[in-house]
Amino acid sequence: MSYTVTLIPGDGIGPEVSQAMQRVVEATGVSIEWEVHEAGEAVIQKYGTPLPDHVLESIRRNKVGIKGPITTPVGKGFRSVNVSLRKALELYANLRPAQSIPGVPAPYRNVDLVIVRENTEGMYVGIEHEVIPGEAAEAIRIITRRATERIARFAFEYARTNGRKTVTAVHKGNILKLTDGLFLRTVQQVAQEYPDIALNDRIVDNLCMQLVQRPHEYDVLVLSNLFGDIVSDLCSGLVGGLGVTPGANIGDGIAVFEPVHGSAPKYTGQNKVNPTATIRSGALMLRFLGEVEAADRIERAVAQVIGEGKRVTYDLKLDRNDPTAVGTQEMADAIIEAL
Ligand code: NAD
Repeated sequence: MSYTVTLIPGDGIGPEVSQAMQRVVEATGVSIEWEVHEAGEAVIQKYGTPLPDHVLESIRRNKVGIKGPITTPVGKGFRSVNVSLRKALELYANLRPAQSIPGVPAPYRNVDLVIVRENTEGMYVGIEHEVIPGEAAEAIRIITRRATERIARFAFEYARTNGRKTVTAVHKGNILKLTDGLFLRTVQQVAQEYPDIALNDRIVDNLCMQLVQRPHEYDVLVLSNLFGDIVSDLCSGLVGGLGVTPGANIGDGIAVFEPVHGSAPKYTGQNKVNPTATIRSGALMLRFLGEVEAADRIERAVAQVIGEGKRVTYDLKLDRNDPTAVGTQEMADAIIEAL
């Protein structure tokens, strides 16, 4: 069995971590033909857009893609390619598991959280304008029953399929009474279809404090787009940082996998950053393809290399300046050997 997968290497550290992921996935023996396409600022001159149609068409055709991070300019410039891609392909669920890996320096052990972030609306609809140029600007936050039902159902189905007990709906319904009132009511209605899974809810600021103090009290979290973005980085911090946390953007029968982290431009081309998040995104991809055994092998190999703590990147050393830290590709080599 051979699979065709669209690969967008991304920019910044993207190409390096993508290459490491490709090598590890190929080392499992699963046969993958990579359709490599570029997106982001570098292709604007050639195609007139950072997300050319042929890239979207490739993912639509293959039904599965994996990408490195892509830089988005701050305060100006083009709309995020990542956001546009999720929206264009209706990849409505952003799944970001945050689980402790033994050996990773982190504030807690045995954290096991799953973040389910709504991926198509909320503060990310990109409707912004200046009310008074230079003085006042406005952004629109959209919450719909349709998208909330869809993400809530995804969270409950995920919980049921994966033996999870509780879904927590995260909101700011005390202030955003209409939008988050609708979000919370809709999640509560969907919850009635899942009597085997408990539902509770938390206001987002309180949740952040509780996650930092008592992360073990939480299980699956379902959040609107912006809160999901912020809380998932917080959860990455609980389990050892952005270098280790994978992610998946999932729609109906189609998915694009990517690490939670961004393009870390300051480390571009240095063979320095941790490839684990992208390699584990590759494992999530293999699971999606039904290659569960290969995915399990990657997870075990990653855990072994990190557990040994020798051939790991700087961020996984207790002292970040530890001279024995290895580079991105050398850590991938160690994982391939462990496979
Ligand atoms: P970032 O994730 O790139 O970096 C945040 C911090 O985490 C930095 O200190 C960085 O060095 C560290 N870090 C990130 N990845 C790491 C890794 N693999 N190993 C070790 N350390 C790692 O976030 P940022 O600085 O806020 O964003 C940089 C750019 O990335 C921005 O243009 C942003 O829009 C983009 N971004 C893209 C995506 C995506 O493609 N899905 C996601 C987030 C941010």
